[in-house]
Amino acid sequence: MAKKLFIKTYGCQMNVYDSARMAEALAPLGYDMVDEPAGADMVILNTCHIREKASEKVFSELGRLRDLRDERAPGAGPMLIGVAGCVAQAEGEEILRRAPQVDLVFGPQTYHRLPELVARAARGERALDTDFPAEDKFDALPARPRKSPATAFLTIQEGCDKFCTFCVVPYTRGAEFSRPVENVLDEARALAGGGAREITLLGQNVNAYHGRGAGGDAAAEEGLGGLIRRLACVEGVERIRYTTSHPRDVDEALIATHRDVAELMPFLHLPVQSGADRILAAMNRRHTADDYRRVVDRLRAARPDLALSSDFIVGYPGETEAEFEATLRLAEEIGYAQAYSFKYSPRPGTPAANSSEQVAEPVKAERLARLQDSLNRMQSAFNEASIGQEMPVLFERRGRRPGQFIGRSPFMQSVHVEGAGDLLGQTLPIRIAASHPNSLTGEPVAALAATVRSPGRAGLQA
Ligand code: SF4
Repeated sequence: MAKKLFIKTYGCQMNVYDSARMAEALAPLGYDMVDEPAGADMVILNTCHIREKASEKVFSELGRLRDLRDERAPGAGPMLIGVAGCVAQAEGEEILRRAPQVDLVFGPQTYHRLPELVARAARGERALDTDFPAEDKFDALPARPRKSPATAFLTIQEGCDKFCTFCVVPYTRGAEFSRPVENVLDEARALAGGGAREITLLGQNVNAYHGRGAGGDAAAEEGLGGLIRRLACVEGVERIRYTTSHPRDVDEALIATHRDVAELMPFLHLPVQSGADRILAAMNRRHTADDYRRVVDRLRAARPDLALSSDFIVGYPGETEAEFEATLRLAEEIGYAQAYSFKYSPRPGTPAANSSEQVAEPVKAERLARLQDSLNRMQSAFNEASIGQEMPVLFERRGRRPGQFIGRSPFMQSVHVEGAGDLLGQTLPIRIAASHPNSLTGEPVAALAATVRSPGRAGLQA
């Protein structure tokens, strides 16, 4: 009888990708994914360590799972509880000490060993595996499933060597590692063969990618630009995206790829964190605000319609009002289509956490509100400027209303359309009719309107 598996995923797209691969690694053991922990035979929390209180959230969730397990029907068999991801990597032993209900703890680099870890847990042995193994976990994972959603993530690079002073990633994900070119292309072919039309390449520092084995030549190395050019030749791949980048790794080859490769979408997430040089230096970002401006200028020269998004941290230790205003100015100068902004939160084990110049919470909150006000105005202006435009939208899921479909514009905007028939996996020209803070609504362009009925325009024929 099939066993039920529930995975709760926190944090970044790489955790989303890892959760999908964990489910694939457990499928041969008879586990099918379910949407709820209640009644599951195994529950895995795939955790994120980026924000404050990350581990406390995990422990409270584990408390709820203990209760759920205690309420299981007699004879229902054991419910295994596992903790994965970056909190598991950083605090594995602490989790086993504080949470006796946990059966297995494993890090982002060892989930390919899940079958063995589950076997040990089923024998009643609590398993902990937070190694950084020599073997390439991707080689040990089963092939991707035959069916894929219209949009898919594909991890090509892991770890980070940058050691920004506020970040735990180098400690939880380890040193930078780039997957061999042919392995990435094989996985892309499998995803596209299964129906994926858009592939997002993932890495903590994705544009530091330098994969070996290009064209089967072990010595030949390929950067991200070159990999994208090869990926664009994979049958079925219509759209390519990549995230997350570091400004210092945007090289000429990548910029030229934005100019030349139509499949590469005109949207780039390029974190800057701060607009003040003294703060950027304290963060160990090793670039100035002007370096960042120059990178953006070169990218926009290559691809004039390129839309940008970014990450910002306000209230980094020692940040003055003038330095915060430099961040505001930089953001308004660049003009972002989207952006993520956070209050600085001290992360255990990171250099900045020990600083004696911590900024007061109310000051952080006030600065964050001002920055978000500015970023939200930019995003609304970007969306409003889309009204009346015609853009290709790839439909990836159904909306809440019957006949409603939700897709992505090339600029990563969410686009809602009412349609007849099944639009999933199709890329259709859509005229944008209205904009909202975080999404757009649109209508299929007349030529196709016959097959797709828009609000109030019933009965058009092909
Ligand atoms: S480059 Fe990104 S992942 Fe790497 S240390 Fe800095 S913030 Fe963290």
